[in-house]
Amino acid sequence: MTEAEKTAALEHVKQAEGAVWTIPDVPADTALRPIARATIVGAGTMGGGIAMSFANAGIPVKVVDLDQAALDRGFGRIRGNYANTVAKGKLTQEAMDQRMALLTPTTDIAAVADADIVIEAVFERMDIKLDMFRKLDRLCRPGAILATNTSMLDINTIAAETGRPQDVVGTHFFSPANVMRLLEIVRGEKTAKDVLATTLAVAKRIGKIPVVVGVCDGFVGNRMIEPYFREAEFLVAEGASPAEVDKALTEFGLAMGPFAMSDMAGVDVRWDVAKRRAALRKPGERYSWLVGHLGEAGRFGQKSGAGFYRYEKGSRAPIPDPAVDAFIAAEAERQGVKRRAVSAEEIVNRCMYALVNEGADILEEGIAARSSDIDVIYVAGYGFPASQGGPMYWADRVGLEKVNADIQKLAHDFGNHWKPSPLLARLAAEGRSFADFRRE
Ligand code: NAD
Repeated sequence: MTEAEKTAALEHVKQAEGAVWTIPDVPADTALRPIARATIVGAGTMGGGIAMSFANAGIPVKVVDLDQAALDRGFGRIRGNYANTVAKGKLTQEAMDQRMALLTPTTDIAAVADADIVIEAVFERMDIKLDMFRKLDRLCRPGAILATNTSMLDINTIAAETGRPQDVVGTHFFSPANVMRLLEIVRGEKTAKDVLATTLAVAKRIGKIPVVVGVCDGFVGNRMIEPYFREAEFLVAEGASPAEVDKALTEFGLAMGPFAMSDMAGVDVRWDVAKRRAALRKPGERYSWLVGHLGEAGRFGQKSGAGFYRYEKGSRAPIPDPAVDAFIAAEAERQGVKRRAVSAEEIVNRCMYALVNEGADILEEGIAARSSDIDVIYVAGYGFPASQGGPMYWADRVGLEKVNADIQKLAHDFGNHWKPSPLLARLAAEGRSFADFRRE
């Protein structure tokens, strides 16, 4: 990449981040709902980080959990996080005290009654979410925004459990929520326009970069990451090592390769997705069961000391582990592939194309309003290099005619899991780019 190309990519990201504040069918002068007080339900990993984001912006926030022990654990983590920042000299003790004073722990769910926005961050189980939204519907004041932090449950089903589906929206924060800038705002079928506009304004106040997305499995970011992970696993079955795949992608510019990322996020989380997807798979479709092998062996990633890599006690540095080779060999045999040398170029292209092909489907379905929104999600939330502009910008730069031809070839050479995007084929044939695509 030349310096001029890098500069152009960085400029694209800047403009893309500016564009997220406009929702095509929501007028810019939509009257906002007043937001002075928030309540977060669930003081776990996400709830605590979300509460900190509000307190950092000077917004008083109540935090509800089931019992005192859960609250104590949650507030212990919050205090510890702030104390670390103070120790590093990045926050004064006085500012920390002011922020802590804005946070009120409680075990009483009735604390949602005076909130202008409630963000639910309880366990990821539909029955628990539905029960919570029935309670919120009963207790919240009329006009309050009812948000859920679910990562993959259907927001429309959750909204339908209330008598006010227009007030329900998804706020998909990324972990750690007090640090990560990205926020996917998930628009349900019935989410009111002023709820979207207000949630965008809240995101701005708490220092996030919000992107409005539609309802689908995984929304935008996690939906695209699945085929990317899957392709990375196929490359490993075909002959690359996890470390080679990660190295090729970090050299491309990603903050982390897919295997180090899986170990950080939790192989068990990916195993759950794999089990869910197994039920949806078409007969004869090529698939990878590598995370299944690791999961069955209790290798859940950093948290269990071993996943695709092994970890020394107290360290997060991934160390290649020969024990993983046996799982890889078993996968290669199950898939019936002969192991061979795989180049860094092949690794980067196949992983990028997996992202881009899914991104194209997402655009065509209207789950993202514009390709630059997808770029923002990947740069702000997934460690995609801003100097490459985001996956869709990268594809436009390569040229959609080439991208389409290459993906058609991959589908032919590497298996029926590749389903070349019809939108990509159409744009390529018309000599157009993702950037100039708008849904009618
Ligand atoms: P967690 O297990 O760390 O925390 C959940 C908290 O909710 C616990 O403290 C629990 O005691 C509390 N809780 C459960 N039922 C409750 C109830 N009825 N009333 C009040 N509190 C209740 O989970 P988490 O990782 O913080 O995830 C929370 C939500 O955020 C889930 O929907 C998850 O899918 C989503 N999410 C998680 C991540 C992540 O990386 N962890 C990222 C994005 C979204």
